[in-house]
Amino acid sequence: MKNDLTVFEQLESEVRSYCRSFPTIFTKAQGHKMWDVDGKEYLDFFSGAGALNYGHNDPNMKKKLIEYITDDGITHSLDMASTAKKDFLTKLNDVILKPRNLDYKVMFPGPTGTNTVESALKLARKVTGRTEVISFTNGFHGMTIGALSVTGNSFKRKGAGIPLHNTVTMPYDNYIDQTSDSLDYLERYLEDGGSGVEIPAAVILETVQGEGGLNTASPEWLKKLDSICKRWGIFLIIDDVQAGVGRTGTFFSFEPAGIKPDVVCLSKSIGGYGLPFAITLIKPEHDAWAPGEHNGTFRGNNMAFVTATEALNYWDDPNFEKSIQEKAEKITDFLEGLVKKYPEMDGYRKGRGIMQGISSNVEGFSEKVAALAFEQGLIMETAGADDEVFKLFPPINIDEDALQKGFEIIEEAVRSVAK
Ligand code: PMP
Repeated sequence: MKNDLTVFEQLESEVRSYCRSFPTIFTKAQGHKMWDVDGKEYLDFFSGAGALNYGHNDPNMKKKLIEYITDDGITHSLDMASTAKKDFLTKLNDVILKPRNLDYKVMFPGPTGTNTVESALKLARKVTGRTEVISFTNGFHGMTIGALSVTGNSFKRKGAGIPLHNTVTMPYDNYIDQTSDSLDYLERYLEDGGSGVEIPAAVILETVQGEGGLNTASPEWLKKLDSICKRWGIFLIIDDVQAGVGRTGTFFSFEPAGIKPDVVCLSKSIGGYGLPFAITLIKPEHDAWAPGEHNGTFRGNNMAFVTATEALNYWDDPNFEKSIQEKAEKITDFLEGLVKKYPEMDGYRKGRGIMQGISSNVEGFSEKVAALAFEQGLIMETAGADDEVFKLFPPINIDEDALQKGFEIIEEAVRSVAK
């Protein structure tokens, strides 16, 4: 096939975005590699925006999926009981929840990250009987009207055409890992009963802002936020759609803070294989919906249950988390080195785990680095309100050699742009 994007330009909506940043036609992928129709090989430091934490076409997941389809396993069953669902629920409980002393009911909200966020916001209203939500600047939670209302991105908000209910009320300003005064402000605000302040139903946030520029909440800050939420009976919703499933070095991103959020939103890599899948984890005491009160045709994708169950086998290995953390340290060292070596970049390292990058104060620098890296065969995204961050997001099981090769391409791109 010719590597010609005209058909996309003519037939696909103008809203297409990633195919503009990565202008080629992809055809195959395996692990951390992708190939286009010209046979050019790319290193994937993007991982489907977090949907491919275990890389492309993981051989064990593929085998299980092919066996399941060959045996005429159920592909679609609404939310009926199925063997595939039973296996997934059991494995998630045994391998992830129980060992972490986390007691959650699993709810299937629909296939996307936006669906799990929407379900969390809705449940918080139902349980608390309140409506207000507190969300943070630069947070990203999805594209439907509810999820977009809690998303702190003016460009995305404009997509709704009409002013949205403004819930983005708190600065997420501890991204240099310091305890932030914004929580003192929040406490003062909540205590001010005389002004008729409405106690919110929920607080929603990511512990590392994936799209918003890798701003990172410190464990201390999260603990303080958790205790404020407990004091006022506010739902703490952690959106782990992007930062979860091992991305930050532990299965859940909030583990280092030792908190147990009321609701946890998971999607993207929870399905393991890149299939559309999401779950909402709900504390048992909040499991308040009557049967059918939250519904949906694609609530539970049996093929995703099969791959998700297989993916959790990675977590049976006691060394898996350690291996992610070791790679994260290598990424930290590499990025710190780049910051020192290329002062022209005027940048600093951000993020944690295998979710780190560099924010450059030079306009357009990070976008140029990503574009040059793409030319050299590395796929990498930019993040932040002004695309000021270039973001290293390889699969969490990437091997050391591939990681090193990625570093070389990125350094070469930085060197060229800094010249
Ligand atoms: N929450 C977070 C933290 C995300 O990163 C995303 C997607 N980038 C979403 C929610 C929305 O997920 P989806 O695109 O699957 O609807």
